Amino acid sequence: MRILLTNDDGIHAPGMAVLEEIAAELSDDVWVCAPAEENSGAGHSLTLHMPVRLREHGEHRFSVTGTPTDAVNLAFRKLFREKMPDLVLSGINAGENLADDITYSGTISAAMEAALAGIPAVALSQAFRESGQGFSAAKGWAARVLAPIIGTPMARRTLVNVNFPPRAAEDVRGIRVVRQGFHDYSRGSLVEGTDPRGRPYFWFGLDDIEHTLDHGTDLEAVNDGYVSVTPLQLDLTHHASIGTLAERFTQ
Ligand code: MN
Repeated sequence: MRILLTNDDGIHAPGMAVLEEIAAELSDDVWVCAPAEENSGAGHSLTLHMPVRLREHGEHRFSVTGTPTDAVNLAFRKLFREKMPDLVLSGINAGENLADDITYSGTISAAMEAALAGIPAVALSQAFRESGQGFSAAKGWAARVLAPIIGTPMARRTLVNVNFPPRAAEDVRGIRVVRQGFHDYSRGSLVEGTDPRGRPYFWFGLDDIEHTLDHGTDLEAVNDGYVSVTPLQLDLTHHASIGTLAERFTQ
């Protein structure tokens, strides 16, 4: 099994080292192609206004001067011309990717890029509640989460989003397959300051975000100490609205 590893925290991020350890248990044909720098919040952006560069860091290890989507796309077009990977793993992200984090997340978007190419893909994130907490839950539970996912044929244009709860591996209560929860960032915190030239700047904070802990959601599962597993689809069509909206155009 050929596995491509990527992330949005950059090739040198601690979570990539954790993911490399996990992948080494699954296969001896593991490749890394990840952004050269931190790209959290990059979403599914593709660099079109400038060239990107591919740097080799060792055997089957590469970084790309671009976004997570650039890294995966360049790997497909340049590194895997002969044989595409059988699986793409993205992570382990330093911080959760739950609920409506999905469309902001470079970690998940890298997995989306693989799903668009018809390759099974899993995004993996470690939720943190305090700094220095580490990747204990991810290290202890990744193999148990990945084995059933790898053995399940996924529908086209789908991927799996996995989040590890912010606690030590031995305190994790289990694995829950759950739906996407709800986040609202519009009332989150905002840091305001003045730059050295006297101009105001703004910096988005990640606290005070409104969210629900509805039953059966990824947010609830991780909050309760479970690993959350959420299948996602790239078809964002709201099918129930097609009929009602179409009626408006036929009057
Ligand atoms: Mn990140």
